[in-house]
Amino acid sequence: MNILKSWIERKIETGRFQQRGDVLLFALSRGAITSFAAVGLNHFIYFVLAPAGIIKVPVPSSPVADAFVTLLVSGPISFLAFAMMGQAIHSLALSRDSFERLSRIDPLTGLLNRRAFVEKIEQTKTPYLLVLFDIDRFKSINDRFGHPVGDWVLVDVARLLEEHFSATGYVARLGGEEFGVVICDMPRAAALEQVDLFRAGLANRLFERDDLSFVVTISGGVAEANGTLAYSVLLNSADRALYIAKAAGRNRIVEADELSGPGLGEYLANLPTEQRSA
Ligand code: GH3
Ligand code: MG
Ligand code: MG
Repeated sequence: MNILKSWIERKIETGRFQQRGDVLLFALSRGAITSFAAVGLNHFIYFVLAPAGIIKVPVPSSPVADAFVTLLVSGPISFLAFAMMGQAIHSLALSRDSFERLSRIDPLTGLLNRRAFVEKIEQTKTPYLLVLFDIDRFKSINDRFGHPVGDWVLVDVARLLEEHFSATGYVARLGGEEFGVVICDMPRAAALEQVDLFRAGLANRLFERDDLSFVVTISGGVAEANGTLAYSVLLNSADRALYIAKAAGRNRIVEADELSGPGLGEYLANLPTEQRSA
């Protein structure tokens, strides 16, 4: 039973039952092998075991006709049996696929979820820019307009992020009102410009629904992957930059590189006075 189970798992793993045609091919080939094996077994009985006196069976007068009848009977039966088995494995493969897909997608926004994002980052060639975005004062949107409006804002921000970044990278919802973006194959300065362009575009946009009209801003922490940093270190740097963007007044992008030395204190000290609002 375990052998059969691991055989089925192997076939699904290697994508052998993805298409209906695979099922047909499987049923045809296994049906043919089984039928010819039945003919071989019959002949082994007639011409080896029976003459040796091990089994008492009458040897048919025409072995060719006997083989033909055996093929005629066992062929369709084994084809049907293998087709049913193949169909069951095919359905299993499809539901496994859709489960696998769903487990990588955030159900509210349709973006990649954190797990899929981390997996994708691990396969992304450096250098790339990692941005952690977090909607500002999102709790107050929920509090003022209700949770469904909060959800609608999340869906809209997700869509805007996709529109802005999907050509050059990928976007994920990491949880709550936090999003992750990876920008690849773009010079650092141009990528940073795109990040700030998104921030500024959002801040200048009106979210309008029913008789509501309000502005949503976002803060971002940026870190650059250059091949020497582990993903967790990179994430920590971007997270720290995001934290400082919040502390420095929100609606801004902070690069992790700016945070050498004492970090927040130094960053805030260097900010123009008019930007120090919290
Ligand atoms: P900050 O500017 O510091 O990020 O403040 P904030 O209010 O955005 O952050 P905070 O962490 O205080 O609040 C996040 C809120 O997001 C709290 C939580 O109820 C809400 N939230 C998390 N997930 C969802 C969701 O799926 N839908 C909605 N509507 N709200 C969510
Ligand atoms: Mg927030
Ligand atoms: Mg948050």
